[in-house]
Amino acid sequence: MDFSLTIMGTASARPVADKYPSAHVLKIHGRLFLIDCGEGTQLQLSRYGFSHVKIDRIFISHLHGDHLFGIFGLVSTMALMGRTAPLYIYAPVGFAEVLAFFMEHFGEGVIFDIIHVPLTSVNPQVIYEGRSVDVSAFGLNHRIDAFGFLFREKEPARNIHKWKIEVDNLTLTEIGALKRGEDVVRANGELLKVEDYTYIPYKGRSFAYCSDTAPFPKLASYLRGVDLLYHEATFAEDLHDMARTTFHSTGAQAASVALEAGVGRLVIGHFSSRYRDLNTILEEARAIFPATEIAREGMKFDIPLIRYSEE
Ligand SMILES: [Zn+2]
Ligand SMILES: [Zn+2]
Repeated sequence: MDFSLTIMGTASARPVADKYPSAHVLKIHGRLFLIDCGEGTQLQLSRYGFSHVKIDRIFISHLHGDHLFGIFGLVSTMALMGRTAPLYIYAPVGFAEVLAFFMEHFGEGVIFDIIHVPLTSVNPQVIYEGRSVDVSAFGLNHRIDAFGFLFREKEPARNIHKWKIEVDNLTLTEIGALKRGEDVVRANGELLKVEDYTYIPYKGRSFAYCSDTAPFPKLASYLRGVDLLYHEATFAEDLHDMARTTFHSTGAQAASVALEAGVGRLVIGHFSSRYRDLNTILEEARAIFPATEIAREGMKFDIPLIRYSEE
C-alpha cells in the first residue's frame, strides 16, 4: 500500500554536475508513474532501482526540453528490453508531432503501442481512472501550454462497526447497503445512517505536481488539502522579477500556494543552476510554509497510510 515520490532530477533548464533535469517517480500500490522525463532519466531510474519496464504511464507537464528530452532514450531502452505492454503518455497536444518524428526515425524496434493522451483542459479534468488511483490534469501559467497533475488514491469501501451488527440485528441486506454508503430505512421507519454504522478503513492519499508555472489565482483551489505538493521554485526572491518574466516561481511563491491550499507538506525543486546553495530558497519558503523540503536527487517522500479502526 505504498504511496511515495522519489526525485530523479531537480535542475531547471539543463543538467549540471550533480543535478539532472525534471523527472519523478510516483509509486502507488507497487505501480510506477513517471512524471516528466528530462535528459538522463533512464540513468537515474537505474541508479535508484526502478525497473524501466514497470513504468506504464508517463505524464509530461509541457514540451520544454528539460521535462522531455529523456523520453527518447527511455522508450528506446524499453524496446531493447523487449517491452510488449502498451505505454501511455499523457502530454500536451504538440507531443503528437514529437512522437511521430521519433517513431519515423528511431521507432524500428518499438513493437509496443505508444498511446498519446493529449492534455487540453485548462480546468481540472480526470485523465486516468485506475483501480487504486485517479489522475487529473489542470492548466498552469507558463510560457507555453503546461499542465499540473493531481494523483488521488481511491477511497476504500467502508467497513461496518462489527459490534453494531448484533446490537441492532443488522441483516445481510442492510449491511450491504450501509457498506455501499446508502442509508437504510427499516419497515418501522427507523433510520440507519451510514456514518453511525460504518467507517472508512483508511484515508485516500493525494499528491500534486506543479512545474513549470508562475503563480495564478486559481492554482491553490486545485490543490486543496493534498497530502504532498511538489511545486517548482526556480528562483529565490532576489530574482522575483525574473521569475515573473520567465513564468516561473520563487520558493516563497511556492510556499504561499502551499499555505493557501492547506497542503500537508511541500517539496520544492526545479532550481536554477545559478544557486549553488539552496538554503536561501528554503529559508524564504519555510518562513511562509514551515513544512517545506528541498528536493534532492534520490530523495524519497513517503505519504504514510492513516488507518482508522473501530471505536
Ligand atoms: Zn522546466
Ligand atoms: Zn518550462
